[in-house]
Amino acid sequence: MSATIEIVEVAPRDGLQNEKTPVSTEDKLHLINRLIAAGAKRIEAVSFVNPKRVPQMADAEAVMDGVPRDVGVSYAGLVLNRRGVDRALAAGVDEINFVVVASDTFAQRNQGASTAEQLDVWEQVAAAAREAGKLVSVTIAAAFGCPFEGEVPIGRLVEVAARAAAAKPDELVLADTIGVGSPGEVVARFNAVRKVAAAAKLRAHFHNTRNTGIANAYAAVTCGVTTLDASVGGIGGCPFAPAATGNVPTEDLAYMFGRMERPTSLDLAALIDTAKWLEGVLRHTTPSMLAKAGVFPPQRAA
Ligand code: ZN
Repeated sequence: MSATIEIVEVAPRDGLQNEKTPVSTEDKLHLINRLIAAGAKRIEAVSFVNPKRVPQMADAEAVMDGVPRDVGVSYAGLVLNRRGVDRALAAGVDEINFVVVASDTFAQRNQGASTAEQLDVWEQVAAAAREAGKLVSVTIAAAFGCPFEGEVPIGRLVEVAARAAAAKPDELVLADTIGVGSPGEVVARFNAVRKVAAAAKLRAHFHNTRNTGIANAYAAVTCGVTTLDASVGGIGGCPFAPAATGNVPTEDLAYMFGRMERPTSLDLAALIDTAKWLEGVLRHTTPSMLAKAGVFPPQRAA
């Protein structure tokens, strides 16, 4: 088991997509550059989705045009269909992240297709991304519960994960899109999915909607997950899930794991600065705890 924890920074995508205030391309690039300066190595920078449905992501191509290259950072684009993949490849992403929703009702609301139909598309997407030489991940959304159907049985999740794993993703992500998982469920579900997806690296994506996000992240790490999604400031949410709130704050996770001698590549002071800067851009406070309380032990200015 690797000693370090890898964070995939999702603030520019999951973080911003639900924000009411339009964020300029320039500010998105500021955010990405700040994250890189803070030590981010993998950034989900954009999604290639219908701009009428998610206006905040309408400038995905312009963002990808402006990101710094050759700085040791891998940029991911989230896609929901074949057209999204074509756009992502044309825009020069390094990684493709495809979403399959574990419950049919939410699958229809999010992507206008059933889970089974999404899995059919996923097979084509995985093949296209691999052929283009890109790292390819599949995220199973609503893996811990559905905003419309309620409980998602573990058997259902395992069935979806087994089909998703058959297309040989580099990574398989279990996403608690609406923040309803508990640490016990996290361990049970990752262990069950690992049995049917042995070849894929497992990754976790937690929203902190009910304040269980950081406990869930710890639980995932105890059962061998070493890659976690997080968003600086804890901003974010899904536009198609009622009452969805942000991801686990990157700085809170990096602080906790750092105190456990499971370091990340990230600089806490730079993340806190970025969370505070974001509050100005978004014109509201962020859920980050570390930005409020500060780092411990106190750090002397360099
Ligand atoms: Zn999310």
